[in-house]
Amino acid sequence: MSDVIAKIPTDLSIGGRWQPASDGARFDVADPATGEVIASVASGSAEDATAAVAAADGAAAAWRETSPRERADVLRRAYQAMTDRQEELAEVIVRESGKSWNDAVGELKYAAEFYRWYGEEAVRAIGGISHAPAGDKRILSLHRPVGVSVLVTPWNFPAAMATRKIAPALAAGCTVVLKPASDTPLTALLLAEMLTEAGAPDGVVNVLPSRRSGATVGTMLADPRVRKVSFTGSTEVGRMLLEQAAQQILNCSMELGGNAPFVVLADADIDAAVEGALVAKMRNGGESCIAANRFLVHDSVAQEFADKLAQRMGALKLGPGMDRGNDVGPVINEGAREEIAGMVRDSAAAGAKVLVGGNSPAGPGWFYEPTVLARVDHDDPLLDHEIFGPVAPVTTFTTEDQAIELANDTEFGLAAYVYSGDLARGLRTCEAIEAGIVGLNRGFVSDPAAPFGGMKQSGLGREGAQDGMLEFLETQYIAADW
Ligand code: NAD
Repeated sequence: MSDVIAKIPTDLSIGGRWQPASDGARFDVADPATGEVIASVASGSAEDATAAVAAADGAAAAWRETSPRERADVLRRAYQAMTDRQEELAEVIVRESGKSWNDAVGELKYAAEFYRWYGEEAVRAIGGISHAPAGDKRILSLHRPVGVSVLVTPWNFPAAMATRKIAPALAAGCTVVLKPASDTPLTALLLAEMLTEAGAPDGVVNVLPSRRSGATVGTMLADPRVRKVSFTGSTEVGRMLLEQAAQQILNCSMELGGNAPFVVLADADIDAAVEGALVAKMRNGGESCIAANRFLVHDSVAQEFADKLAQRMGALKLGPGMDRGNDVGPVINEGAREEIAGMVRDSAAAGAKVLVGGNSPAGPGWFYEPTVLARVDHDDPLLDHEIFGPVAPVTTFTTEDQAIELANDTEFGLAAYVYSGDLARGLRTCEAIEAGIVGLNRGFVSDPAAPFGGMKQSGLGREGAQDGMLEFLETQYIAADW
């Protein structure tokens, strides 16, 4: 075991104390590049979930009363610690998630920036006083922390999905219990330790890894002391949590699945579109909710686009992320690789042309080659699935209206990408697409200062920007005379 991994606390972090699960249960964490077990982590029980809520509730009143400046200072120190310890954190992320070194460093910069941005935001006073139209009173509108918040995160961005929730919650004055994904609990545990060192008081941030997600999260959502759930993960699990949250009328933020179209109009700069496609598809090895999932390319430029994309994808170096020269790591686990390989096989059998890739290389780890499929039929089931891997299916359209119709032909509405040489045309197309986030002539869209979130079945609410902080505040209106 590497020194960095060996030093990470592997128990539950509740009320500022590290403790084993109430029944002693633990689970293994494996390195997707080798399949080797790299750590054993405490697996929280329903009883531990109740203890974590009690700790968050116990710390809530004092944290809410701290000055915004004090909360900002904790976040600022946490930002600095993440920046100073980037190498160590990158190793943890690479080892437990499998992503490439560059992707891990990119994630960490993004993740740390949430602490800095919300540290700055914590001290921006919002709210207002106005005269009522009838002149009979003043209308005071105040914002206050929503209360104890349960945060549930996925494995694909073990640091950023956590800080994107923790930072606005803490800035707003909420205390939290974080349930990280069981494939990647180590980064979250290290972040908990770093937040304590940055001055977060005991109980403000509790981290509860568990293999028993249903029991632990279900227990917390049924606890009347909890007032908020912020979830990032699949639409399927999000829907279940919304049902559970309905029982206590919890405030809900949901960042769910995607099926992003990448639209290349006839007048696009094809070389720029290929570079953007490479980022939109291959950031995080394709394991991203905003990954370009369907390439919709005007038929006059489709062959040139697909050939150039295949050339760039084929040149990417596949291998373990700890070797910093590699561009693409393994996918998260064997099941994910099998699913991706099956989708490609079926698509090829249905007539799609494999321009590059299409194989699982022999040897250890869950690697899958960067793959480009051309001439994919509009009815191919591949286009309905979130691929979550390094596979780029290219299909064509003939008119702008058809491109928009195809782009919107999905229950998801998280991200989309549009390439056009004509700004007005590009903007018109962006506006017609039902997606919460659209990249215009850009393959990289994430920014802590921008509102991130989906339409349709991709979610509710936004993370990042002022919108992300409002998710952890609620408004009180006072009707006043003086
Ligand atoms: P997942 O839904 O399987 O798991 C997400 C989290 O929910 C994990 O912590 C998991 O342990 C927990 N969970 C699973 N079953 C649960 C249950 N029954 N009750 C309570 N909690 C439960 O998703 P995943 O495989 O970890 O992540 C991939 C998915 O996340 C993809 O669909 C992706 O699009 C989505 N995602 C969305 C965003 C976004 O911002 N919209 C960002 C990243 C990932």
